[in-house]
Amino acid sequence: MKADLILARGVIRTLGRAGLQPHSHLAIAGGRVMAAGGSEVVGLKGPRTRMIDLGGAAVLPGFNDAHAHVVYYGLTRFGADLGGARSVADIAARLRVHGRALKKGEWQHGMGYRGDELAELRAPHRTELDLATGGRPAYIDERGGHSRVANTAALEAAGLMAPGADPPGGRIVRDRNGLPNGLLLESAMRLVADVEPPPRIDRREQGILAAQGLFLSRGVTSVGAAVNRGFADDLRAYQRLAEGAQLKMRVNGFLSWELLEAASGLGVRAAFGGPILRGGPIKVFVDGGAERVAMRSGGGVWRTAPDELRELVATATSAGLQVAAHAIGDGAIEAMCDAVEAAGGVALRHRVEHCTICPPDLQARLGRLRMVAVMQPLAARFGRVASALFFPARDRTHLAPHAPLLKAGVALAFSSDLPVTTDPNPWPGIRAATEDQVNGITLLQALRAYTYGGAFASFEEGFKGTLDPGMVADLQVYERDPLSEPSTTWDRLRPMAVLLGGARVYGSL
Ligand SMILES: [Zn+2]
Repeated sequence: MKADLILARGVIRTLGRAGLQPHSHLAIAGGRVMAAGGSEVVGLKGPRTRMIDLGGAAVLPGFNDAHAHVVYYGLTRFGADLGGARSVADIAARLRVHGRALKKGEWQHGMGYRGDELAELRAPHRTELDLATGGRPAYIDERGGHSRVANTAALEAAGLMAPGADPPGGRIVRDRNGLPNGLLLESAMRLVADVEPPPRIDRREQGILAAQGLFLSRGVTSVGAAVNRGFADDLRAYQRLAEGAQLKMRVNGFLSWELLEAASGLGVRAAFGGPILRGGPIKVFVDGGAERVAMRSGGGVWRTAPDELRELVATATSAGLQVAAHAIGDGAIEAMCDAVEAAGGVALRHRVEHCTICPPDLQARLGRLRMVAVMQPLAARFGRVASALFFPARDRTHLAPHAPLLKAGVALAFSSDLPVTTDPNPWPGIRAATEDQVNGITLLQALRAYTYGGAFASFEEGFKGTLDPGMVADLQVYERDPLSEPSTTWDRLRPMAVLLGGARVYGSL
């Protein structure tokens, strides 16, 4: 058998058996790596083989972003862009402009502000939104994804403009007169979300394509598509794109916990699906975000109480389904370990998403339970600064414990959590993980967490994640070798071309 494509005279790192040791040549046949090595690989050239002289360009496996909100990011394109807003007046002005293009009665959305970036250091009040939106229901999201503000019309649509109790795992923030001020935290966000019309499927598709363009431009060829709510429409949108050959990245689509019963009723199990699209883990929130993470020392919000979590993990495990649990604080991570241990779910690679504050006893338990830590390596940089607000000093030693987790035998997968991180470029995270003075890891470990790690998390490590022979030829090409460039320039790194299964999906070669 001869090769379809040979990449020659490059700096090719497989991140597999050879680690960071570069090869100069790579042969691809049938969408898979046939051989990686020196000039002897040219012997696989046949009459129809395409040869590309890389002229010193560098090749790495495509990145796998194991946790990113693909549809959510995509849908923000249709709302008002509130990213970088500096004041409540700034938000109102952007809503006013954006609202002009909307149809009568259509809900207005906006996304991307952060309360602590506003001059007022607080979320807008519903009446401040009303001034910009009038009687149109409007619902805006803070960038972290754990709080939102509704205007009066949206609160009325949800029947919330009356005294009432907070839902479990959430809070309706109220003025002194007992009326909601518009700010909804954690599970309370859903009270309004449940009454708004769901986005149309064509918008989901357009949103996915926009996200895909961004991912490919950053060298990401596989993505774990995280969800906050249970829309069957998400999977349908991905599938329609795949059928139309428009899906050019591999998607592991999470299923919200509300779909657990449906999924187990269908009989689908972990790793269900094909090479382009598969149904991924059951996503559940254990604790909240920011100052609402659940610590063993107390405090925080339990989006899912420990006994409910135990039941959910037991149900999923007996159905053969993997669970991806949002757990940031050590209390939440411990609850997930308890649940997995009780369910005997060791073979299912149950995942802890974020795993931000994880002390040694929990590191050891995650290792024993053969769980996967799906982390955002940038937490090693920003977390140490921001965490001063949220965590006592003694907890910060165990923040983003990448090295200790690997030592404890925990599989590590890296991710951006887009749009919480506004750019899914993996390089700043790789830099943060390697330069971290407390829990830093090697460059090879960081690169593997962004390639092999995500493949392992979705049971695909025998299929993708390295460029060893037999693996699918998902790869990215850089004009110059990133590893010979100073890490201070990595934030600006962009691949010149990206191949999926040996076929070009981005850039040019
Ligand atoms: Zn997330």
